[in-house]
Amino acid sequence: MDKRLKLKIFDVISKVSDEMKQESYVIGGYVRDMLLKRPSKDIDIVTVGSGIELAQKVAQALRSKPRVNVFRNFGTAMLKYKDLEIEFVGARKESYQRNSRKPIVENGTLEDDQNRRDFTINALALGLNTYNFDLLVDPFNGIKDLQDKIIRTPLDPAVTFSDDPLRMMRAIRFSTQLGFEIETKTLQAIAVNKSRIKIVSAERITEELNKIILAPKPSVGFKLLEETGLLEIIFPELYKMKGIETVNGIAHKDNFYHTIEVLDRIAPNTENLWLRWSALLHDIAKPATKKFFEGQGWTFHAHNYVGVKMIPKIFRRMKLPLNEKMKFVQKMVHLHMRPIVLSEEEVTDSAVRRLLFEAGDDIDELMTLCEADITSKNQNKVKRYLSNFKIVREKLKEIEEKDAIRNFQPPVSGELIMETFGLSPCKDVGIIKDAIKEAILEGEIHNNYDEAYSYMLKKAGELGHKKKN
Ligand code: ATP
Ligand code: MG
Repeated sequence: MDKRLKLKIFDVISKVSDEMKQESYVIGGYVRDMLLKRPSKDIDIVTVGSGIELAQKVAQALRSKPRVNVFRNFGTAMLKYKDLEIEFVGARKESYQRNSRKPIVENGTLEDDQNRRDFTINALALGLNTYNFDLLVDPFNGIKDLQDKIIRTPLDPAVTFSDDPLRMMRAIRFSTQLGFEIETKTLQAIAVNKSRIKIVSAERITEELNKIILAPKPSVGFKLLEETGLLEIIFPELYKMKGIETVNGIAHKDNFYHTIEVLDRIAPNTENLWLRWSALLHDIAKPATKKFFEGQGWTFHAHNYVGVKMIPKIFRRMKLPLNEKMKFVQKMVHLHMRPIVLSEEEVTDSAVRRLLFEAGDDIDELMTLCEADITSKNQNKVKRYLSNFKIVREKLKEIEEKDAIRNFQPPVSGELIMETFGLSPCKDVGIIKDAIKEAILEGEIHNNYDEAYSYMLKKAGELGHKKKN
């Protein structure tokens, strides 16, 4: 069989390990991903002895003499070589207490180290010393699980998850990323231990959630989160979207399933995490705004505005960024119904110009979100919307070329208005400026200086202002 460990760095680590008379292995994610033919740049090396010393000697043996970052508290060391990040750690044995994710750590054997790994497919190790170079050490039959596409804990899942509850999120994340099934007992143990997730920091949970959101088919993960009961704990706003209510025989759709369908639909069209978050949150205020009116049916009045207001609280709790990334999500949620409303009527130039004015540079992302939002079971309806969207997209392009509304800057400034008519700052200056903007958006005049200037003269005249000298 062909050698699996082909990179030169493995030969170097092998030689140094032999010289130190220390057993070393490549372990975990790198081995898993290599066998799955998913290229990865992070390599974890476990060695029976000091990981820090091994890292330092490996660095010395390399021509580039890379710097070694040492984390004494964790007993680990990291170095960069070419485009790889290589982490070294001594094999360890871990025991956990009830109230913390932080284990008591002692030195251990390779076997001890494999026992503390989260899943069988993450416990695979390849030998690095001459006597076992490239040989697989697989005590839990992880290879079989890799072939059968199964996520399973090496030891009793109840113990594994109770020890470190983050592993419950990781199980669901790997299942979503890799398209693997979580083995029944493992899945049941997540449901039983769900409350333990509360001892995990928000940052760590969010990191896994983001990986689920960025997976090719995120709904897989959200369904698992829901089934196991984790969703209600970590994301109550999303959980509340579940369910269908019926009044007088009229039902609304299940907004949870609609939302994760939108997320799946947007996935092939964007790798932008924040656009995917926008898809996840676009209807988040539907439960809060839901009302039934006789003769009208279910309404979710202003759910976009209420959604915008809910976002900062969610982002703060989840330790997501509160900067322009959040503002982008808010903008998408705010505007998410606009293109569809627009395409329901005749698509007029002025409506397109207004949309472009509000969405600015984010217009393409907004259109991508809206297209994903069309999940009707009525195929004719879907076809009609999508073809209307095509018209909207064409019109957007046409108008942008003509009028450059995307980054709208008023062609005539307030200063110029004041100067021309000898005014000090006052209400009329604002009125004139606004009228010019409106005239451009309505298509009465083009977005250029000369037409804006003439329009300014006309509008100021109506208000009784005369041009100075
Ligand atoms: P990815 O890099 O895609 O997140 P990974 O499996 O490499 O996946 P890392 O967080 O890089 O995940 O961890 C590397 C290895 O360390 C894992 O493959 C696993 O063996 C082990 N590991 C990581 N986190 C845990 C954990 N919470 N409990 C047990 N083992 C873990
Ligand atoms: Mg990794």
